[in-house]
Amino acid sequence: MGAVNASSPGLGTSGHIGTNVDEARRILAASRRIVAFTGAGVSAESGIPTFRDAGGLWERVSPEEFGTPWGIADLVRRRPDRLVEVLAELAGVVLEAEPNPAHQTIGALERAGRLAGVVTQNVDDLHERGGTRTIRKLHGDLGRFRCLGCDRTDMRSREALAAIVRGLTATAALTADQLLAAAPRCPSCRALERPDVVLFGEMLPESEVEGARRLLADADCLLVVGTSGSVEPAASFARTVVRGGAPMIEINLAPTDLTPLATVSLFAPAGEILPELVTEG
Ligand code: NAD
Ligand code: ZN
Repeated sequence: MGAVNASSPGLGTSGHIGTNVDEARRILAASRRIVAFTGAGVSAESGIPTFRDAGGLWERVSPEEFGTPWGIADLVRRRPDRLVEVLAELAGVVLEAEPNPAHQTIGALERAGRLAGVVTQNVDDLHERGGTRTIRKLHGDLGRFRCLGCDRTDMRSREALAAIVRGLTATAALTADQLLAAAPRCPSCRALERPDVVLFGEMLPESEVEGARRLLADADCLLVVGTSGSVEPAASFARTVVRGGAPMIEINLAPTDLTPLATVSLFAPAGEILPELVTEG
């Protein structure tokens, strides 16, 4: 196992760094069914901050209030303007973001027939826009809405999302009733809809977890990018693949709970190092 801080003293200038980059390149070049397992860090260089890192969302607002269904229900009643402010900020950042070279490299590997798919904890659409076709989204999708009445789900375009945010932010000192009036409604039963993302205390979508398991069961290399691995099932997924004999390459800014499992860990920004690891063919 090798670990290296590739961002200092400089990528590729030290023998140790070179050795680890070379090993990661060799592993990737020899693999034909790579599965990328990604977290918030893969989108950080696209301008979407991670939640848990220093300065992240969970330092500014409480996850108990803003990250749970009961906390959000309470905010709708008692502090609707603050809820909309936080949601609008998040949505604004995600709507502005473009895929970075890490998303694009992962997309290119799939096009080249070397990567079987992506399993992600992210709720943005940057993998898809970076060329990924096969993706399992364990924490849901910010662009999808789910009806609280009939459970129907609906993908909304970026324009439709922006219009929802504009509708919600148009009124100053928004009341709970005004929030509910401006919130999206189900096209078939007119009940309220919510973003189809997994909040704290909620189950992961079974079909996505099953799909992820199938992808991982067949993986010949696990490429873990930008996740702390502190939220299950990240760690158990990684353990299963590694126990099955496949090598694991980890890319993160710093060591994580998954680092002891890695064949090679590279500590550098994903958008800088991933393109360095992939050669043609
Ligand atoms: P997390 O626990 O997976 O942590 C993010 C990891 O990314 C950290 O280990 C950090 O060191 C690493 N990282 C940061 N910048 C990086 C970079 N440039 N290159 C490589 N690694 C980098 O995720 P979290 O922030 O605690 O978020 C928890 C959950 O919230 C996510 O699983 C997701 O469901 C949701 N979330 C989604 C997004 C998104 O969709 N883009 C963003 C934030 C949070
Ligand atoms: Zn409905």
